[in-house]
Amino acid sequence: MTDTVADAIRTAAERLSATSDTARLDAELLMAHALGISRSRMLITMMREAPAPTFAELVERRAAREPIAHITGEQEFFGLPLRVTSDTLVPRGDSEVLVEAALELKPDAARVLDLGTGTGALLLAILSHCKAEGVATDRSSGALAVARDNAERLGLGARTRFVERDWTQEGWIDGLGQFDLVVSNPPYVENDAALEPDVRDYEPASALFAGPEGLDDYRVIIPELGKLLIPGGVTVLEIGATQADSVSVIARDSGFDVTLRHDLAGRPRALILR
Ligand code: GLN
Repeated sequence: MTDTVADAIRTAAERLSATSDTARLDAELLMAHALGISRSRMLITMMREAPAPTFAELVERRAAREPIAHITGEQEFFGLPLRVTSDTLVPRGDSEVLVEAALELKPDAARVLDLGTGTGALLLAILSHCKAEGVATDRSSGALAVARDNAERLGLGARTRFVERDWTQEGWIDGLGQFDLVVSNPPYVENDAALEPDVRDYEPASALFAGPEGLDDYRVIIPELGKLLIPGGVTVLEIGATQADSVSVIARDSGFDVTLRHDLAGRPRALILR
């Protein structure tokens, strides 16, 4: 006898519960992907026959800790469907607080810069809610290809420019111009941090690790922000939950006033630099 979608999801959720905090949701997303339909569509057709072998294969990949977003090739961020590959960090819900802060502080921004754009998540979410033009950098050409593709799919291609830049290289800001708003979710994980296998084994190390204290990238980026901002410009930076004080010190040393924002879980998540 063949399983229904509902049965197959239940079994898979049990199988995944040992290794995932979101086992039921994971199983639903994988089933929708196997069926080639949206999750909401799937939820109203639960009694149909499960696509057994395809689904089982996807569940095995998830059981081996591959992120859902890598398996489905997609992650929703700030209501936008974004393409994701192993060249990019998977956009996190926690980062949506940066988009909210940016839109609140600079709703009429004319030019927005995203440093280390990855999938393009921060920039594209901001541009989809304002009229600004955007520039995004990344040192990974693979990530830039994903970000460009996302911009095109969202109809934002004409307002965005993606440039390959590595802020560890001299002259990395040359020709970028000046901006009302700079956003960035740079690497900030301590080199010896114990990460979940879902992150450690699948997401790009170059998007995560930032030296012994996780501060190397802030130390390079923050001193250059003055040159990238017009007078009155604002920077919104993602930080790790324990880094508010140390990154604030770096920012004040560069002459910025600093305010802190928390994410939905109440953890320190973003610094506003003015
Ligand atoms: N928030 C990511 C994590 O939890 C880290 C992102 C980053 O280094 N910018 O792994």
